[in-house]
Amino acid sequence: MPNHTGRLVLTTSDPVAGPDAALLAAALSQSGFIGEPLPGRRGAFSVGRNFLSLLAFSGCAVAIAAAPGPDPGAAFCHVHFSALTAAPRLRWGRNTRPPRCPGCRSRLLEWRRRILESPERPLPGLTCTTCGETRPPWRWDWKEQGGYGRLFVMVEEVFPGEAVPTGRLLDLLTDACGSGWRHFFVQD
Ligand SMILES: [Zn+2]
Repeated sequence: MPNHTGRLVLTTSDPVAGPDAALLAAALSQSGFIGEPLPGRRGAFSVGRNFLSLLAFSGCAVAIAAAPGPDPGAAFCHVHFSALTAAPRLRWGRNTRPPRCPGCRSRLLEWRRRILESPERPLPGLTCTTCGETRPPWRWDWKEQGGYGRLFVMVEEVFPGEAVPTGRLLDLLTDACGSGWRHFFVQD
């Protein structure tokens, strides 16, 4: 199986915020970021008429396969919403690097063991092995290589850094749910 190219993940700047998925979907549909619901894929939508103008692409040639091809396993560009969870959860992938302590900038090298050993039971705090400060895992600095949230809007497939949300898209999301938004990338 080919490596997953990656996905652009949008979530609230405050990982504890709980945005309303129905309001978000309505705003993104009205603005033309998303199109029709994809049959048989819960929470998934085709890209809309203004999809390309609401993202900023770094490459010169943008090739988007916007519909499933004859091969059911082949990648095509679409947007999907995660279900809202009660607590923030980590989205991570093979591109995720150890997070940095926001106090002393040290990396938490053993993050996988510390966090992933209890994925269903979020840790109350991660203690920095350098400065001894304890913070919830979502207060660590994950850069754009992973992060926490309660609801995610994900764009498949986007290579990390290849496309970022425009200010207009972030404003749309913020206006829909009253919370700031940010982005990062993960590769399965
Ligand atoms: Zn520290």
